[in-house]
Amino acid sequence: MMTERRNLYFYHKEEPIIREKIDTLRKLAVDLGFTIVKDYKKANIVACFGGDGEFLQGVRRTGFRDDCLYVGTSTTDQLSLYCDFYIDNTLEIVESMTSQVIEVRRYPTIEVTVDNQASFYCLNEFSIQSNIVKTFIMDVYINDLHFETFRGDGVIVSTPTGSTAYNKSVNGAVVDPLLPCMQITELGSLNNNQYRTLGSPFILSHDKVLTLKVAKEGNEHPTMAMDNEALSIQHVENIQIKLSNKRIKTIKLKNNSFWDKVKRNFL
Ligand code: NAP
Ligand code: MN
Repeated sequence: MMTERRNLYFYHKEEPIIREKIDTLRKLAVDLGFTIVKDYKKANIVACFGGDGEFLQGVRRTGFRDDCLYVGTSTTDQLSLYCDFYIDNTLEIVESMTSQVIEVRRYPTIEVTVDNQASFYCLNEFSIQSNIVKTFIMDVYINDLHFETFRGDGVIVSTPTGSTAYNKSVNGAVVDPLLPCMQITELGSLNNNQYRTLGSPFILSHDKVLTLKVAKEGNEHPTMAMDNEALSIQHVENIQIKLSNKRIKTIKLKNNSFWDKVKRNFL
């Protein structure tokens, strides 16, 4: 849909190698009538430079805006899941942003609430892991149902676009982002006559809430991460995870479906 998107914010690491290229792009954008804004809150297009890791950071640093368009640009010779443009291909980048009919792709995100207080968004996944040598115990609830008692290293809860990241390394399924859902995968679950987990990944729909209750004895200091950022909360008892209403918008290009991306990344 065409809307007047004219305020452009650049997110990138301060790397001398890409500095010049980004400056060139900035000038080009200004010539084409864009305004480069220093305050991301005023932006309606956020251009992220780097790889998937920088795209995730760019989305996080700009507050998971669902009213602006995110554009991922690769600074290497490889595209990635979130980066559809090459930094050297300035023409293509600018053309896509100036196009009258921009088609938009919307990526589901998850919302994580810790101890009924702070809540956070994730575009790839939330992960929780033991940071002690011993196993870590959690009660897992789906809505009000006590589903299992998990004992092991931890779990990953991933979004559809995060399904090709950490989730995939532990044999989770790759999920089409047109399905608004979250996938739970286990990290080193212990299964014996006392402790039993499902053992396979499972996928929850948008109306489900996953609750993790951390069992007390000495494991209330797990390591938690939202995408590529560690959660600095030290003590935790109760974590709720659900699909959020926020979706991250990116430009939909031709011959560039999610499955095209999966193919270009992995096959
Ligand atoms: P990183 O350690 O550099 O990332 C690991 C790799 O995952 C990089 O090649 C990264 O691509 C890629 N990646 C990130 N998001 C992806 C996605 N949605 N689909 C496919 N590949 C993806 O750290 P990072 O670059 O900051 O990325 C953070 C992510 O790394 C986390 O969200 C988590 O999913 C993943 N991770 C994976 C493992 C594992 O597989 N064992 C362990 C920890 C974290 P770029 O090179 O383009 O950045
Ligand atoms: Mn990276």
